[in-house]
Amino acid sequence: MVHNVSNPPTLGLKECIKDLLGERGFAYIAKAKELKAAGKDVISFGVGQPDIPTFDHIVEEGIKALKERFTGYTETQGIKELRAAIAEYLNERYGSDVQEDEVLVTIGTKGAAFLALAAYLKPGDEVIVPEPTYPVYSEAPKFIGAKPVYIPLKWEGEDRGFSLDIEEIEKAISSKTKALVVNNPHNPTGAIFKPAELDALMDLARRHNLVVFVDEIYDNFIYEESTFKSFMEFPDWRDYVIYLNGFSKTFSMTGWRVGYLVARSDVVRNLTKLAVNVWSCPPSMAQRAAIAALKGDWKPVRDMVNLFRERRDTMVAELRKVPGFEVWRSAGAFYVFPRVRRLLDSIGMNVEEFVDYLIDSKYVVTLPGTAFPDTAGKDYIRFSFCISKDKIIEGAKRIKDTVEDLLASRFKR
Ligand code: PMP
Repeated sequence: MVHNVSNPPTLGLKECIKDLLGERGFAYIAKAKELKAAGKDVISFGVGQPDIPTFDHIVEEGIKALKERFTGYTETQGIKELRAAIAEYLNERYGSDVQEDEVLVTIGTKGAAFLALAAYLKPGDEVIVPEPTYPVYSEAPKFIGAKPVYIPLKWEGEDRGFSLDIEEIEKAISSKTKALVVNNPHNPTGAIFKPAELDALMDLARRHNLVVFVDEIYDNFIYEESTFKSFMEFPDWRDYVIYLNGFSKTFSMTGWRVGYLVARSDVVRNLTKLAVNVWSCPPSMAQRAAIAALKGDWKPVRDMVNLFRERRDTMVAELRKVPGFEVWRSAGAFYVFPRVRRLLDSIGMNVEEFVDYLIDSKYVVTLPGTAFPDTAGKDYIRFSFCISKDKIIEGAKRIKDTVEDLLASRFKR
C-alpha cells in the first residue's frame, strides 16, 4: 500500500464525526468475547439483547420468505401488510387510531431514531435529553451539529428509583430548544416513568411547541402492573410525537434489523424520502418475519417476560448483598442500575476503573454508567439480566468477593 499524499483528502472527515462516541456497550461485548476466546470463564452482564433465540414461528416465516425468494427491494415505507399489522397492534394495545400510512418501517429502531433526529434538528438547535441516555440520542444530534442538553434523572433512593426532573427540563428550555427525548421503559436505569411525569412532559411540548422523540422499544418488558403509559395514548400525539419502536427486544430479533416510526402521514411521507436515499427499504424477508411476530402466538413473549421478571428479582436480591451497592428494583426493560457512589468513595476508584477491575480480576463484564454517555451515570453500573439465574448468582458473588477484598485491603492500609 502506498501513502504518498501528505494530506490525503480521505482524512478530511467533518470534525463532528471525530467527536462522536461509539456505543461503549459494543466495546465491552467485544472485550467479553476476547476473554472467552482466551478460555476465561466470563460472566457478561453487558449485552442488551435477550439470550433466548428468535421464536420458532418467526424464524419459520423468515425461511419461508427466503424460499419463496422474497428477497428483492420492497416499498421504502415497508410492506403494507406489516404497516397495517403495526397500526393494528398499537391501536389494540393503546386505544390509538394509527393508520398504516402513518407507519414507516425502518432498519432497526436505531435507524428510526437517526432518521427522525436528522430530519428535525438543524446545526445550533438544542434537544433536551434526560441523562443517562441510550447513546444515539446524544450522538446523532452531535453529528448533525445540534446540541444535546443533558438533564440528569432524579435518583429518589433504593425504594423509588429514578424520575424525570420536569422542573429542570423546563428550566433548560431556551429559544434554541427544538425537541425533547424520552425513552420509556428506560435504558439503562430500568425505570418506568410515572404517567404524571409523562403528562407533564407532553404539556411542556404543547406549551413550548416542541417535538417529542419517544422511544418505547422496551414496552413489553414491564414487571410491575399498570405503571406504563404510552405516548400513543395522548389524543394529540400527531402534533408533537415522533414515536419509535421495533422488534429487536420484544421478539428477540436484534439481528433482523426491523424497527418502525409512527408520525402523522405528511411527516412519514417526508421521512420516507430521506429513507429511500439512505437504505432504499428495510430487509424484505425480515419484514415478513415481523408480520409473523405481531400476528402469531404471543405466549413465547409472555414466557420470556415472566422469566426476566424472575431474573430481575434474583439480580436485585444478589446485588443487595454487595457492600456499598444501593439497588433499586427496576420496573422495566432488562437492566438493573445500582448506585455505587459510596463504594467508589471508599475504595478510591472511579466507576470505569472499578468496572475494568471487575473484568480483569474476575472476568465479570458490566457497563459503567458513564457509557450513557456523559457524566450523570458516574455513580452507577449497568447490569443486563439477559443471562441465566445461575450466572447471575455466580457473577454477583464474584463481585461481592471482590468488593469485600477491596474494602478489607483498604482497611489494612
Ligand atoms: N433504543 C433503545 C433505548 C435501545 O436500548 C436500543 C437497543 N439497545 C435501541 C433503541 C436500538 O434497537 P434496534 O436494535 O431496534 O436498533
